Amino acid sequence: MARYRDAVCRLCRREGGKLFLKGDRCYKPSCAIEKRGTQAPGQHGPTARRRMLQGYGEQLREKQKVKRIYFVLEKQFRIYFQKASRQKGITGENLLFMLERRLDNTVYRSGFSTSRRQARQLVNHGHVLVNGRKVDIPSFQVKVGDEITLKDTTKKNPHVEGAWQTAVGRGRPPWITANDGEISALVSDLPKRDDIDGNINEQLIVELYSK
Ligand code: SF4
Repeated sequence: MARYRDAVCRLCRREGGKLFLKGDRCYKPSCAIEKRGTQAPGQHGPTARRRMLQGYGEQLREKQKVKRIYFVLEKQFRIYFQKASRQKGITGENLLFMLERRLDNTVYRSGFSTSRRQARQLVNHGHVLVNGRKVDIPSFQVKVGDEITLKDTTKKNPHVEGAWQTAVGRGRPPWITANDGEISALVSDLPKRDDIDGNINEQLIVELYSK
């Protein structure tokens, strides 16, 4: 499977803000953005260049940022956009809703992991159950009424237990209802635009693909 191999904190610095790619560390002072600020990697003042971005450059950076947040590569991202543009409603929001409803993102949002990367590993390695059946496809789209949980042995993994406790403290988006007793999550609603953080301007992506 294709994947990003760069040190992930460089990606945040490249995009000029936190993308929350490293789990707990993203919320601590050891976060590279907290320590070094938003200067992009490289020697020759790339921050200044980024501030000057307009038009195509700005649109391109926004697309790269969203791809990196959700760990989606170009080909699949473009397919999402094509589907979003055929749906009723606002294309940019439709795009974000499909990304949010990916199984790996839902696992992360539910609190089974502290990052989308860990969530993808859980899915890829067959630890995730949807309505009692193993689903190992990270792009699987969850729907209202789906119950997400993990295999019993995986629930006892210290990383999973720690992530779940962190999510209890940090809170979950309103479209997910957690069952702390069972360590499971119900997709109780569809995500709304206000539920999606990350300082995303999806209209820039629509403009980019509409050229
Ligand atoms: Fe690294 Fe997370 Fe901070 Fe990004 S937000 S720089 S991934 S620690």
